[in-house]
Amino acid sequence: MATHTLSVIRGDGIGPEVIAEGIKVLDAVGRLTGQTFTYTEHLAGGAALDACGVPLPDDTLRGVKDSAALLFGAIGGPKWESVPHHLKPEAGLLKLRKELGTFANLRPATVYDELLDASTLKPEVLKGTDIMVVRELTGGIYFGPGGVTGSVTASGDHRVGINTEVYSAFEIERIVTVACETARLRSKRVCSVDKANVLASSQLWREVATAVGKRYPDVAMSHMYVDNAAMQLIRNPRQFDVIVTGNLFGDILSDEASMLTGSIGMLASASVGGPVGFFEPIHGSAPDIAGKGLANPLATIATVSMLLRYGLEQIDSANLVDAAIKAVLAKGLRTADLVAPGAKALTTTEMGAAVVVALGSTAKAH
Ligand code: NAD
Repeated sequence: MATHTLSVIRGDGIGPEVIAEGIKVLDAVGRLTGQTFTYTEHLAGGAALDACGVPLPDDTLRGVKDSAALLFGAIGGPKWESVPHHLKPEAGLLKLRKELGTFANLRPATVYDELLDASTLKPEVLKGTDIMVVRELTGGIYFGPGGVTGSVTASGDHRVGINTEVYSAFEIERIVTVACETARLRSKRVCSVDKANVLASSQLWREVATAVGKRYPDVAMSHMYVDNAAMQLIRNPRQFDVIVTGNLFGDILSDEASMLTGSIGMLASASVGGPVGFFEPIHGSAPDIAGKGLANPLATIATVSMLLRYGLEQIDSANLVDAAIKAVLAKGLRTADLVAPGAKALTTTEMGAAVVVALGSTAKAH
């Protein structure tokens, strides 16, 4: 029987509550598919600060690097807001991402039929939308040379703020390759988004993306300017499968795409490209609802699906989890974030249990 060792960081706030449900689902997948998942637990964020005095202990980093993949909850909260900057929970998270060298951020935006009304857009525009934004995470304008120069003098404000977009052919090649590989697991279409009509870095981006595309004859590669992409995402989101783009454009477009779906409690993400993939829901530690059983665990359960698909390349297992999420939504089961205030809703653990039951039935049906 195959055994996979995963590292788990539960984190702060609702992190431990939603991770507990994710693990329940992974264990159920293990039982159904004849494999074992073992978990090594590590501390990061506020919990690590309380226990060890730092937001990312060395043990955590070593343990994560030794595992097949990392399942991460969320970190941070008001308790640690006034600690010095380098000790903040978020500083630990950034260091962890950097140390893992995960240059590719995968953010799906899947619109579930049952939740069509949860978005601000018209259901007929959204129906069937299933997009994966692949964002370059460790280069581009966020990391290029820059700063504020000049000074304010008696004659006026002479300061200049500068940032520089820098992309090497190597960085473009590796992120577009991830996008093409990702598309192979989906509908085999990649739209590369740039601003090649204005920016030199985008001209190189387009040239390299085109060349990578030629290595994947089974994947249809297209190109779009970022301003048009922002518009097309709202006008006709169904036209997209995988969108690949740089750090800045990806930051903006992935948030735009995620809002097509309506709820932050449903959205997963994966950061890959290093030796160990990093899988986390996109939401934070939600201190306002922590400990109340109100958190929606479906974002974490969708994260488990991404871990199976992109971390362990278990496409059938990932499909099972996705089908189980759809099945609970089709049954009308909802957590509090998806119902009108005061309406009856499942607790976090009840929703996790419902997904486990649905897994059993979908596995039988397959
Ligand atoms: P948040 O995502 O934690 O919460 C925003 C809103 O969404 C809140 O009203 C919350 O109740 C709701 N929400 C979030 N997840 C939910 C879920 N699964 N089910 C139901 N409702 C959910 O963002 P925030 O309030 O800006 O940040 C809170 C803390 O989380 C801060 O300390 C922030 O730094 C941290 N944070 C951490 C991460 C991370 O660990 N990757 C990401 C974002 C924010």
